[in-house]
Amino acid sequence: MSYEYDAAIDSNPFLTGGNTVDIGIFDQRGIDFLSAGFRGWSGSARQSFFIAPDEATPGYVPGPIAPGVWYIFLGFYKVSEGGCNFRVTVRCLPGGDGGATPPRWLTLADSVTLPPRPDGWYRGELHCHTCHSDGDSAPGEVVRAAERLGLDFLAVTDHNTITALADLAQQRPQNLILIPGCEMTTFKGHWCAWGLSEWIDFRALTTERMDRVMRHAAAKGALVSINHPRAYGPPWELPQADTCDCIEVWNGPWMLNNWEALAFWEKRLRQGRRLTAVGGSDAHRLTAHAQEIARIGVPTTWVYCPGAPTAQGILDGLRAGHAFVSEQPAGPQLYLSAGGALMGDRMPPPPDGEAALRVRAVGAAGLTLELHDASGLRAALPVAGDDETQPIPLDVAESRYVRAQLTEPGPGGTPVVRALTNPLYIGQP
Ligand SMILES: [Zn+2]
Ligand SMILES: [Zn+2]
Repeated sequence: MSYEYDAAIDSNPFLTGGNTVDIGIFDQRGIDFLSAGFRGWSGSARQSFFIAPDEATPGYVPGPIAPGVWYIFLGFYKVSEGGCNFRVTVRCLPGGDGGATPPRWLTLADSVTLPPRPDGWYRGELHCHTCHSDGDSAPGEVVRAAERLGLDFLAVTDHNTITALADLAQQRPQNLILIPGCEMTTFKGHWCAWGLSEWIDFRALTTERMDRVMRHAAAKGALVSINHPRAYGPPWELPQADTCDCIEVWNGPWMLNNWEALAFWEKRLRQGRRLTAVGGSDAHRLTAHAQEIARIGVPTTWVYCPGAPTAQGILDGLRAGHAFVSEQPAGPQLYLSAGGALMGDRMPPPPDGEAALRVRAVGAAGLTLELHDASGLRAALPVAGDDETQPIPLDVAESRYVRAQLTEPGPGGTPVVRALTNPLYIGQP
């Protein structure tokens, strides 16, 4: 199968003035929304692909070539003023099904169980790509890159296809938890589902459909996140569709408009929502590339997971909001608690209105520790030591939540965030 179209330009949202056309295919089982007929997708990353009983281009699902009507699926992501001429060429070659067995996808149960750590905290990468969509590396190479960084968990989240999960099921890293994932890349915004080992429909262009498919994934046990809701994220264009568990508040280096994603999350916190802030690098390339600014582990999400951590345990910790985000694997660490309540937990309102917050900052000497609630910045304190625990009494009589972040001055007076925590929630939901 191959296709071509005129005035082709890259899918990079910064580029306009030409055409970008995606391609995918559904088999005889159908093409309806949420149908089972999905057989692969490559966005605009490839001009050709093949599917055979026992082999397929990365991004496509090998298996029986059953008779019936198959469907080419084209996505017109960018169409220039001059329009877009395109041609799709299909070649069918004879051959039997050869007793092909369906691919076995990575599942949560495949993950290694790590030895428990006394403090219960683990760090990892939740959002990156491989050659199964538009990345440059095989899943095994991404696994080894994560191992070299000393990460504890890794979710590969290719665009709109889960075929990397077959490759990942073959990998058996001893010290790295692998979490199944996929990034649903729609024309209205991107979202991640973690924990599922099946394809999820990405063809949602309305609030109703988007909510429906996110609920559908959640009902099957997925942890669901809205990704990079900010300019050139691309942004999330269906703000009413937000039935998610997490928001990717930090995507790639902080300076890439992540303030907007933080505001998107905080707006919902102010409405009384409980949504976990997560980070993801969105790295596509491991090889040196002059324009590449996304690197695995930048940023890194830290998760609290009591006992011996598994893939499910990491997802449970994220769901509970027991997590913070730091700029990189060796970046500053920030822990927020009050009494027995950890970030992500809900604590009863203190009788006298004053919460006895406890903030531990590691590797943060010289940075500023900020506390925020719905009204904005509530406190800013210098951090002097390299591992400092500060008791901070704060009047929270009017606060529904308190969160912490580490900052330093940035260009133009805008602070750069170096780490941020999930909130402690206060009082009844
Ligand atoms: Zn994305
Ligand atoms: Zn991505």
